[in-house]
Amino acid sequence: MGQLMENYISEAEEALLHTYNRYQIVLDRGEGVYLYDLEGKKYLDFVAGIAVFALGYSCEEYKQTLKDQTDKLLHTSNYYYNVPAIEAAKKLKKLSGMDRVFFTNSGAEAVEGAIKTARKYAFLKDGKTDHEIVAMNHSFHGRTMGALSVTGNPHYREAFEPGIGNIRFADYNDIESVKKLVNDKTCAILLETVQGEGGLTPATEEFLKEIRKICDEKDILMILDEIQCGMGRTGFDFAWQKYGVKPDVMTTAKALGCGVPVGAFLMTEKVGTHSLVAGDHGTTYGGNPLACAAVNKVCEIFERDDISGHVREVSPYMWDKLEELKAKHPKIKEHRGAGFMQGLVFEEPVAPVINKALENGLILINAGSNILRFVPPLVIEKKHVDEMVSILDKCIED
Ligand SMILES: *Cc1c(COP(=O)(O)O)cnc(C)c1O
Repeated sequence: MGQLMENYISEAEEALLHTYNRYQIVLDRGEGVYLYDLEGKKYLDFVAGIAVFALGYSCEEYKQTLKDQTDKLLHTSNYYYNVPAIEAAKKLKKLSGMDRVFFTNSGAEAVEGAIKTARKYAFLKDGKTDHEIVAMNHSFHGRTMGALSVTGNPHYREAFEPGIGNIRFADYNDIESVKKLVNDKTCAILLETVQGEGGLTPATEEFLKEIRKICDEKDILMILDEIQCGMGRTGFDFAWQKYGVKPDVMTTAKALGCGVPVGAFLMTEKVGTHSLVAGDHGTTYGGNPLACAAVNKVCEIFERDDISGHVREVSPYMWDKLEELKAKHPKIKEHRGAGFMQGLVFEEPVAPVINKALENGLILINAGSNILRFVPPLVIEKKHVDEMVSILDKCIED
């Protein structure tokens, strides 16, 4: 590392709160599917800002849209209509098949909104305020108090208890464990269609279908968190679209704005007309013209260029290449995931491999201490997979 980055890093360590153990690089700009640090070193990016930059860094029409909207109007508040929000909501409805959209600033806030929707839906039915939500072990839903309360990782929650309360945790892909927890107080079952931070585990079709059945029988809400696995990541605009089940409420964020902070929770018409009403929920920034201009453009490109189709076409190649890597290195115990959301499970912490990869111009990230996570820009080509695998192969060997 040169003096320039070293100085900035020591300034960062003086000024920023120590909530992250950051990798020792200062990123400066992006081009295509590559990032450059402050000293001009080039990196192949297989993280995409954690499944955010789906379209890569050189999508000119996206950048132009943001520049134009910046010149025009950044913010209005939700007391007035604005055209980007209307257009973005229409496109998102079309992409998702859901009926009603509420825009948020982040993924965690989308989860908060989904929780409030479920509680209100149940409250309108029986007037009670002791409703429970069944969530999953090893899940991740965000860091705000509500989202944290439904996150199935006790380590993240411990110092911040009590959470919002009335949350029960079942085992992912174990329907019997869900059935044991569902009772007359249950108002929702909440899960990621593919678990992200918890280890790149897709739901089984049987599991999702059984949850749909329980929710229908009990008239409770099936909430799917698609914040990481949605927006084309698994080869479908939203991961659940592959399974032949539809949620009542869905959350999205990460790739939704491709870099502009924005999320959303969406619901069916039935839930929309039997839950939150004026005065129940709001946000100052959520759905502002800048964020929604981004969403509108991203959704337009997804539909026009069939980004999900590209993922279905190229991601099996990454699967095969990572299988080869697994066969070659006994340290790799397991390979799982879907589309461009894959993980290699190692028998030891992967931090040394990630640091080695950085030295060699490849950006990778973990999921938990022992899993190497691959969530590249969705527009990568086979040649980028080859480049990644050849660097990684060397790093594992070392
Ligand atoms: C990242 C993530 C969140 C939280 O989103 P933030 O924008 O970081 O608040 C929630 N759920 C899932 C599945 C995620 O991957």
